Amino acid sequence: MNFHLSGSLKIYWGENSFHFGLPAFKTEGELTAKIFNEIIDEIKNEFKVATIKAEENKTSFIDFLKENELHPTPSGRNKYSWVARCPYGRRNHFMMVSTKENTFGCGYCKKQGGQKELEQLLNITL
Ligand SMILES: [Zn+2]
Repeated sequence: MNFHLSGSLKIYWGENSFHFGLPAFKTEGELTAKIFNEIIDEIKNEFKVATIKAEENKTSFIDFLKENELHPTPSGRNKYSWVARCPYGRRNHFMMVSTKENTFGCGYCKKQGGQKELEQLLNITL
């Protein structure tokens, strides 16, 4: 297995893990168990580092989400990236939150904004 393919798999698995989880190893072909495990360990380690950095860069917007029981959690993608329960719609799902500019976005509900939009929504539904 060449380095380029290994790097591509790492990016692909890392990006898809949010929705599908990390893949499990099945049978050995060109991809050996050793290389597979090395890639998965690197992804997990990057998630861990991003999670720690996100906690360190936590903003008052995250506190606001916690206070309103939207359960913000670092996504592990980068130091600004969090997920939280989406308060729009009835189905239980997550929305993306960024502490870079304290914004949220839900691809499912097609809603986005900041704390002001959530305050308006939460006041209406209370
Ligand atoms: Zn939503």
